[in-house]
Amino acid sequence: MSPVRALARVNVAAIERNVARLVREAEPTAVCAVVKADGYGHGAVPAARAALAGGATWLAVATAEEARALRDAGLRDPPVLVMGALSAEELPVALEAGADVVAWTPEFVAALREAGRPVRVHVKLDTGMGRLGTRDPALATALADEVAGDDDLVLAGAMTHFATADEPGDRFLGEQLERFRAWVQPLRGRHPGLVAHAANSAATLREPASRFDLVRCGIAIYGMDPFGEDPAERDLEPALELTSYVAAVKACEPGESAGYGRRFVAQRPTTLATVPIGYGDGWRRGLTNDCDVLLHGRRVPLVGTVSMDNITLEVEGKDAHVGDDVVLLGAQGAERVTAEEIARRLGTINYEVTCGLSPRIPRVHHRDGEVLPG
Ligand SMILES: *Cc1c(COP(=O)(O)O)cnc(C)c1O
Repeated sequence: MSPVRALARVNVAAIERNVARLVREAEPTAVCAVVKADGYGHGAVPAARAALAGGATWLAVATAEEARALRDAGLRDPPVLVMGALSAEELPVALEAGADVVAWTPEFVAALREAGRPVRVHVKLDTGMGRLGTRDPALATALADEVAGDDDLVLAGAMTHFATADEPGDRFLGEQLERFRAWVQPLRGRHPGLVAHAANSAATLREPASRFDLVRCGIAIYGMDPFGEDPAERDLEPALELTSYVAAVKACEPGESAGYGRRFVAQRPTTLATVPIGYGDGWRRGLTNDCDVLLHGRRVPLVGTVSMDNITLEVEGKDAHVGDDVVLLGAQGAERVTAEEIARRLGTINYEVTCGLSPRIPRVHHRDGEVLPG
């Protein structure tokens, strides 16, 4: 019997090394570790600690609650930037956490001034992402000047976000970069302490000119490739391994099937192994008849429909026994399955593979095999 049903083992030492690698490459630019969405499924607090140990000096999240959770866990010192829009309900939470906030409208700056307390503000120009930020550089400049002139507010940063940095060879990144540069350079001249930042992981790795004073790296710190390729090629080390075990083994005669809808019907005598993980854990139903998992260091095909709580493997000839370890993401022997491979099969991106692992999967954090407390 296996000690656990299914588990995500997260190597904080890998996160630390990935960050150190990015810090070396980006130098002298500082690195902000993006730990939103529970650290892309890896656990926000351990990921943040590992990133700081690796040399990151800033943290970023998407929501006020995420900022509060970092502070509550004792991460008091590093600046924490809340990158998302803040609702009226969220704003006091962000301010209470002492988070840096992003502004792009006069109304929001007015709300910050009314708070009557020190707030570090980053003004955002939308140079082409078409999401948050103002498209009007003159308004962005006016807001920055207003923030800088207020007694309580601090103009901490000026930022933008790229839409196509992960598409090598595209020209839009260069256009966005030019728009940002044209806006931020004079602004920086007038406000020398201002931190200019634009790059995500892909831009950091692809375009040194996009780095400015600070890069905001998420996906790469977890050892996943922002371009969806093999992370090893960019010297990134996947930090998360997803494992389960063989819970049942059974012979399957020709004509017998596995799973809902009989999407697998044996054509020959074979053996099936049932693994107790499913779409309720975030192992998506789109992987029905369409992925491999590792058993005894070899690939075996997932056959049949992914259920909420179980998948079935065809293990004919692989000597499968109840209790055997199964690796769904990660390496076993010389074989490995990456989040990039699973993403490709699902027609999505690696980000969604780890973010999508549900709370039903316990996360255990370790340092190169040595389990961390908590
Ligand atoms: C999520 C996010 C990032 C990090 O992007 P990666 O591609 O994961 O490096 C950076 N900036 C903003 C505004 C984001 O929302």
